Amino acid sequence: SEVVLLRDVHRVYPGQPPVRALAGVGLRIEAGELVGIVGPSGSGKSTLLNVLGTLDRADTGLVRIDGQDVAGRSDRHLSALRAHRIGFVFQQFFLAPGVTALDNVADGLLYTGASLRERRRRAARTLERVGLTDRNHHRPHELSGGQRQRVAVARALVGRPALLLADEPTGALDSTSGAAVIELLHELRGDGTTIVIITHDHHVAADLPRTVHILDGRIESDERTA
Ligand code: ADP
Ligand code: ADP
Repeated sequence: SEVVLLRDVHRVYPGQPPVRALAGVGLRIEAGELVGIVGPSGSGKSTLLNVLGTLDRADTGLVRIDGQDVAGRSDRHLSALRAHRIGFVFQQFFLAPGVTALDNVADGLLYTGASLRERRRRAARTLERVGLTDRNHHRPHELSGGQRQRVAVARALVGRPALLLADEPTGALDSTSGAAVIELLHELRGDGTTIVIITHDHHVAADLPRTVHILDGRIESDERTA
């Protein structure tokens, strides 16, 4: 089944002149896919990610995320959809300083209303999945960049979202820890998580099973290599 369905999506930023950030984008992503969105600066990647993440609305076109048409939904409905069904990872890790890895991840479940004990239990399991069991009680400043990003990935995943959106997840990392984070995303895909990675790094893109190239708000090519 599909997690993402976009048809003829347009997004124009008003101004003199207006900027056509998305100019007729169509995209279909099935459950369990790992997809890279690649393109130069200004090509529309962030706008596309914001539309996929329901943080921004298309002006026209169909946007269906996890089976729901975004156009007809209230902002309140969309924020619930995001909390329950979409995980976000950014270039900056946005971890709470002074808070342990375990509790940073457990915070990803605050919206569930689960007890702290239950949230910590699930956080511990998710940290295990990202290979960080022995770092549960470390605070962000005691972790390497790559480890911090793995904590951020765990926080995004702890609620078992249908869709994980990663915006330049390796942008703040050296190439070795960046490669480890991408490898982790490859492994997570084996669990059926659907993952979209925005990147302008062609090395990152080269190893992904599917790469969508975007230029001037249009999809230039959509290639599957595996
Ligand atoms: P990318 O992520 O590939 O760099 P963006 O989606 O950020 O591309 O930007 C696409 C185009 O839209 C660019 O020309 C950019 O300058 C413009 N743009 C992005 N955000 C805004 C905004 N809030 N207001 C006006 N123009 C914007
Ligand atoms: P339990 O059923 O005991 O609550 P789970 O293994 O179902 O434990 O989930 C605990 C946490 O571990 C979840 O919040 C989830 O993030 C993570 N997790 C474990 N396995 C998976 C998986 N295959 N896919 C997604 N998340 C998983």
